[in-house]
Amino acid sequence: MQVPLLDLKAQYGQIKDQVLAAVAEVLESQVCIGGPKVAELEQAIARACDCKYAVGVSSGTDAILITLMSLGIGPGDEVITTPFTFFATAGSIARTGARPVFVDIDPKTFNIDPDLIEAAITPRTKAIMPVHLFGQMADMDPIMEIAQRHGLAVIEDAAQSITSTYKGRKAGSIGTAGCFSFFPSKNLGAAGDGGMVVTNDQALHERLVVMRNHGSKPKYYHKYIGGNFRLDPIQAAILLVKLPYLEHWSAKRRANAAYYDSRFKGTIVRTPYISPDCVSIFNQYCIRVPDRDRLRQYLTDRKIGTEIYYPLSLHLQECFKGLGYKEGDLPQSEKAAKEVLALPIYPELTEQMLAYVADSVLSFYS
Ligand SMILES: *Cc1c(COP(=O)(O)O)cnc(C)c1O
Repeated sequence: MQVPLLDLKAQYGQIKDQVLAAVAEVLESQVCIGGPKVAELEQAIARACDCKYAVGVSSGTDAILITLMSLGIGPGDEVITTPFTFFATAGSIARTGARPVFVDIDPKTFNIDPDLIEAAITPRTKAIMPVHLFGQMADMDPIMEIAQRHGLAVIEDAAQSITSTYKGRKAGSIGTAGCFSFFPSKNLGAAGDGGMVVTNDQALHERLVVMRNHGSKPKYYHKYIGGNFRLDPIQAAILLVKLPYLEHWSAKRRANAAYYDSRFKGTIVRTPYISPDCVSIFNQYCIRVPDRDRLRQYLTDRKIGTEIYYPLSLHLQECFKGLGYKEGDLPQSEKAAKEVLALPIYPELTEQMLAYVADSVLSFYS
């Protein structure tokens, strides 16, 4: 048997006719920039995320970057974030000229540890950027409380957690703004790059819309130095086809996670901890195991796809040398990087495939 980490063809097979029709409609219209599909998707995402406004953008990375730019964050500023995330989180902070300040993670959830945030705040701090990793939201109540007390913006990197909830509230709806990615491997994936920023702040929404189009308002009169951060209507049309399936797909991922949980219970394999406050959408199912690299090779030999999210904590990346961090500074993040392994969790996995993955992991340790 062969079990890839993700099988997008299996998903495409279910919706092919609808996707092709939606793409054809855009092509026939020849509205190739902006237009009704982008606006329709923005409304649908705002509704799905319990937010007033949504702005379609060119990628999840650009969603983060344009939000920072629209909040006026730049050189001399600091943004507090987690070191255990995809590079784009901290990379976007650095690209504005601001300094990413890393705060260690809660080893149970892999998300930023709110108890450590306050000690990292300085007079230069402008924002906190929690990441809702693997589909589970960060512990937002204490984060919002700290932010409010210090007058800081909160930018939720919700790239992996669209429609995930914390105490019944949707990812992206709690902070100043929420950033989503439609990278094909996310729960709601486009056929290419795409992203979205959501917010309840009307003034921020207006700035995001202007910033997305070179900061021009009116046309050819530039209020800000923005950029081309636009979402393609073809991608919006495809996402509109997929959005109605999202809840069902995420429920399937949760069911797959529950199966693995039951198989690994009482074994050496540590399964993902989901807080009782949260409903995860399981963008990834990451176990923590001893001898991780040998397990991974064993699974590769058995034709099971796995991935390490993420093998090197961001504070130790070569490009961030100038920030002055060293090994041992953020021990929980460094430890997680050595122990995590993502198993296949996508909705179309069959019972046989799930059993084969679980059997294989357990047989490695027996
Ligand atoms: C995927 C991802 C991004 C970036 O999204 P792109 O659409 O690939 O640019 C940012 N942050 C996190 C946590 C992600 O997983």
